[in-house]
Amino acid sequence: MFVKELAHDALANIRQAHSSLSERLSRYDPVLLVVAAVGGTVLYANVVRIYRRSEEPLSKRLVAYVFSKVRQLPMVKARIEKEISSAKVEIMHSIHKDDSDRIFIAEIPASGLSNEEVVALADKYNDYGKFAVEDGRVSGAVYTDRHQSHIDLLTKIYSKYAYSNPLHPDVFPGARKMEAETIRMVLNLYHGPDGSSGSLTTGGTESIIMACLAYRNRAHKLGIESPVIVAATTAHAAFDKAAQLCGMRLRHVPVDKNNRVDLRAMERAIDSEVCMLVGSAPNFPSGTIDPIPEISQLGLKYKVPVHVDACLGGFLIPFMNEAGFLLPTFDFRNQGVTSISCDTHKYACTPKGSSIVMYRSKELLHHQYFCVPEWSGGIYATPTITGSRAGANSAAAWATLLSFGRNEYVRRCKEIVSHTRKLVEKMKELPFIEVFGSSDVSVVAFRGKGINIYAVSDRMNKRGWNLNTLQNPDAIHICLTINQAHEEVVDAFIADLRLVSQEVADNADKGNKDSTAALYGMAAQIPDKSLVDELICEFLDACYASPPPKGH
Ligand SMILES: *Cc1c(COP(=O)(O)O)cnc(C)c1O
Repeated sequence: MFVKELAHDALANIRQAHSSLSERLSRYDPVLLVVAAVGGTVLYANVVRIYRRSEEPLSKRLVAYVFSKVRQLPMVKARIEKEISSAKVEIMHSIHKDDSDRIFIAEIPASGLSNEEVVALADKYNDYGKFAVEDGRVSGAVYTDRHQSHIDLLTKIYSKYAYSNPLHPDVFPGARKMEAETIRMVLNLYHGPDGSSGSLTTGGTESIIMACLAYRNRAHKLGIESPVIVAATTAHAAFDKAAQLCGMRLRHVPVDKNNRVDLRAMERAIDSEVCMLVGSAPNFPSGTIDPIPEISQLGLKYKVPVHVDACLGGFLIPFMNEAGFLLPTFDFRNQGVTSISCDTHKYACTPKGSSIVMYRSKELLHHQYFCVPEWSGGIYATPTITGSRAGANSAAAWATLLSFGRNEYVRRCKEIVSHTRKLVEKMKELPFIEVFGSSDVSVVAFRGKGINIYAVSDRMNKRGWNLNTLQNPDAIHICLTINQAHEEVVDAFIADLRLVSQEVADNADKGNKDSTAALYGMAAQIPDKSLVDELICEFLDACYASPPPKGH
């Protein structure tokens, strides 16, 4: 009864307010009212549009805006330009430092070189790299030992499929079949149910872009105008790229102390515009696996698709149970998991240029397909972002899976994961180093205890170790491949890390003035990230530039 009375009162109040409002409005010219209403709506829509352009907190956007204005002041601008031009010289030097010839071919030779000459040049260029990949000195990057017999196989396959293109399945039925078989082999590894399907792409980034595109298109069909991706801050940057390319918003949720996504924060982030949830298995920064079964449950509860990013660990996690390591279920056996990305060009050891994106159903995959039915060049349709595809890449991926075989992947998984765990145990004994996140598969991330970890990274680099830099918080990681899965490599790494971290601890400034440390320190203090963008443009430009003369 009470509720009813309350409702009655409320209605009466509204009615009263409405009539007094009408009375007041009747004093105005109706044209003015219409203009004001339309103007107000347009203004409101614009404010909303600008607000929704990004998922960044308003305060952060405001500070960045103010800073970008300060940067326009002539004095500040001159100072920044001076800094950037000196950084530019530094960047050019570092990109080209291994180029011992400083010749640069900028014109196609009028008459072609002989095969011997071309190979000699390629050999010369091949000698530029200085890191000992085969000795396990490089984190990630090359995921296989480059066995001569496998290289020989790939070379034979390449010689047959170099000019094939699965875009034309009628001309290259063999290359098409290889793609189909590769996708199916990986789908079965992930317990793809009846009706599941997928595509072969050029890499993890393309796989992720395709999944985001599919969910965006699905959301549009459901009437969601501006779809949102929900992912942990530790999800791969490819999701930021996908969001930008597909005109979506990426809503980041925090992680817990083990670097696993905070499930409650993820649940709170879900609203009617969310078109997909993301879990990483594992994430790139610390190699930590998000709680996939729980994310899958969230997906089912709110009827939102769930994408599992298994790009990195794609060819480790399916073998972990068999190799003797327990893992929660991460694949399509979770009913809420609707798609998975798995890189074959990482731990499946295929040459770079292959990855698989998988969907629970063909209907989901169809949202990814692209078709122009009325193109003057004929009905045009493609399954992924590319038009013509390198059939040789698909053939090489197919050949690698067949020639390695399941047992070899299980063996490698056992070697890599067990050495990762050994490395973690040994690292825990180091006084100035702290393991960061949960090292669930093959990555070990670590931070400094009272020392600057970036200085450690620089000094490890001088000792021949190429590691990965992380940020928010400051940390570095080593991603173990089969090249690191040896007692000697783990011991050598720990010995160097012990030495270098002690060295940095003995330093008065604890390494804060070392180059990478200084760079990240400076970047962290500047709220306007467009400055970082500018330096990065210089870096990428330097990669395309002709080398500076010797001595520069
Ligand atoms: C490597 C990686 C990707 C992106 O893959 P690319 O092949 O480099 O495009 C995505 N997610 C994770 C977790 C990765 O490690």
